[in-house]
Order: sequence, then C-alpha cells, then structure tokens
Amino acid sequence: MSQPRSAAEIGALYQELILDHYRRPRNKGTLEKADASVEVKNPLCGDEIGLQVAFDGDCVCDLKFSGRGCSISQASASMMTQLVKGKSTEEIDAIRKQFRDLMLGNASAADDPRLGPLRALSGVARFPARVKCALLAWNALESALAERSP
Ligand code: ZN
Repeated sequence: MSQPRSAAEIGALYQELILDHYRRPRNKGTLEKADASVEVKNPLCGDEIGLQVAFDGDCVCDLKFSGRGCSISQASASMMTQLVKGKSTEEIDAIRKQFRDLMLGNASAADDPRLGPLRALSGVARFPARVKCALLAWNALESALAERSP
C-alpha cells in the first residue's frame, strides 16, 4: 500500500467493492457441462456455496457458483471465480495459499498483486468468525480440484 490514501479511505473503497460483488455477483449460475461439482456450508453463519468447474487440460476454463449467505461469503465467491477463471491449477494454488495467509493474519500477503480484488477482504482477518465466510468459496474450489485429480 504505497498510495497516499488514508486507512479510512482504503477501508471505504474496499467496503464498496465487497458490496458491489455481493449485489452484482460475477459468474453466478450453473454450467451446462461441469467436470466437478461441489457444495459446501458454513454452519456458523448459514452460508452455502455450490461450485461447478470445467477444466481444459491443467486450466480452469470456466466456473460458476450458486449459493446464499452473508455478504462476505458471497462477495468472496464472486471475486474468487473472477480471479481464477482461465488460470492454471498451479497459479490457483499459489493465489489460494496467499489468500489463506492473508485471512490468517499475515498482512503482508495483501501486497501480492495476484490477489486482485480479494485484497478488499483483508480487514476480515480481524474477525476470526468471518474468516470462515471468506474462505468458504476457496474450500469449495479446493474440493472441486481434488475431485478432479485422480
Ligand atoms: Zn458468513
């Protein structure tokens, strides 16, 4: 964060981005043909996420999510699908690790540009109960990738 912006300004921008993804989710719906399909729940908050993934070789060529729950869980799912679409499973693993580190309190992970819009969720790390909400879509993706690997 080298921009000359106050923490409050950044917080407001991040809040706006989260609400934007919550209100206008990207890649929400179902795929006509999916190679992996998983459903995960976060009983603590009542969040539900269904994820369908289509692969092309080592690449996640398309994915869509469905679900309901709090703004953090749904915005995180929307951002996740936008970020990983078209990427290789290796690239996705690296992003997933960085995001998990960020959520577990490693604030310097937020400097990684690969995280893209997910950096807007960095404040969630301060609220352990919400970290599960933010990671739910990534758990779904992890299961979908595992389902596909032999
Ligand atoms: Zn939640």
